[in-house]
Amino acid sequence: MKVFKFGGASIETVERARYIAELINDYRDEKVLIVISAIGKTTNALEKIVDAFYAHNISEAQQLFAALEADHQLYADQLLGKRSDALSNKLTELCTEVEWVLSEQHDRPYAYYYDQIVSIGELLSTSIMAAYLNQIDIAAEWIDVRDIMKTDDTYRDANIQWNKTESIAKTVFEKAFKQYNLVITQGYIGSTDDNTSVTLGREGSDYSAAVFANILDAESVTIWKDVPSLLNADPKLFPNTVPIEEITFHEVIEMAYYGAQVIHPKTIKPLQNKDIPLYVKCFLDKNLKGTLIHNTTKAIQYPPIMVLKTNQILLQVNTRDYSFITEDNLSKIYTLFHACKIKINMIQNAAISFVACIDSNPERFGELLAALEKEYDVKRNEHLFLFTVRHYTQNILDEELRNRSILLEQKTRQTIQMVVQ
Ligand code: ASP
Ligand code: MG
Repeated sequence: MKVFKFGGASIETVERARYIAELINDYRDEKVLIVISAIGKTTNALEKIVDAFYAHNISEAQQLFAALEADHQLYADQLLGKRSDALSNKLTELCTEVEWVLSEQHDRPYAYYYDQIVSIGELLSTSIMAAYLNQIDIAAEWIDVRDIMKTDDTYRDANIQWNKTESIAKTVFEKAFKQYNLVITQGYIGSTDDNTSVTLGREGSDYSAAVFANILDAESVTIWKDVPSLLNADPKLFPNTVPIEEITFHEVIEMAYYGAQVIHPKTIKPLQNKDIPLYVKCFLDKNLKGTLIHNTTKAIQYPPIMVLKTNQILLQVNTRDYSFITEDNLSKIYTLFHACKIKINMIQNAAISFVACIDSNPERFGELLAALEKEYDVKRNEHLFLFTVRHYTQNILDEELRNRSILLEQKTRQTIQMVVQ
């Protein structure tokens, strides 16, 4: 069995959805679990609805949602010629779940409402795609993943209850695959024991695909994207990128850790652990080779892999009484970062100072600062970049650092990281 994941861009327009259907048709004689995201930028649009709702602009939220529903009905009409009553009713029924939420008085946390509302995006897109495939005689079963993907109630970043999900997924998918070659379900969403909807974190569909591949012992996962392959850097930030044909899980997880937005970082572990290869392929041209990500002991020659994280802050924390930054102070400082849920991208410490590079937008930065300042002097530098290069060469560094000044630098044989201005 294979797992395919299609992101929002792959079904952004009905033309693309048709193209995807053709692509799926090539695999109709194999068993394929198809995981799909919400159409285009639907998740962003849903986030706006949540914000309006939570700011008590109920009628604005309702209007925006009605427009989003109408867009989906229209998309279905365009794709299917004329949508069937069954599909139309199904979309209406799914939307009713959200309309109920939008008519409630809110007395629960923001994240709870976020998940109840935002999770509709994937339910609508997959319902439309499944109906379309069946209409053009590509038999496919639609499954509501909320019956399978069981999580805790950490809304917006739910943790999978692995044993429960595993046993349900095996039963449900195996039964579906007895009847159908193609099974379609949603990425990114799941549900709690009380059957309230949850989401797994933005861009989480890759992760869902990997989780099911792991549970079902899939032969491979393919993430279909609008780019030909993985590149050694983000082409929006670097003009001269090169494609990467083959790369190890280890290398990709390092790239993701340093901030490359290639694949959702949680995707790698479930695949690596079961040695399931991950292909990144281009849905615009299925003949392109794409990238193979897997476990291999063979030595791969990599180009310099570059990751630039923008909007960084460099925090310098100094002891006031000239006590050393050793284990006791370090553990105090780390505890504060941890309590404020602020991830440190890079650290360095000296005799009486601790330096950390962090993203500049965490919600709880103010809280962290206040806590640190109770005991330490804190200085900060803002609007910085964190530049990481794996497999660096002197040429690349000379070229990329020409107009930048370096505030902090750390180097191993393979990786160089610099906080630059
Ligand atoms: N639709 C969700 C998002 O845009 C999940 C995903 O695309 O993976 O974040
Ligand atoms: Mg998406």
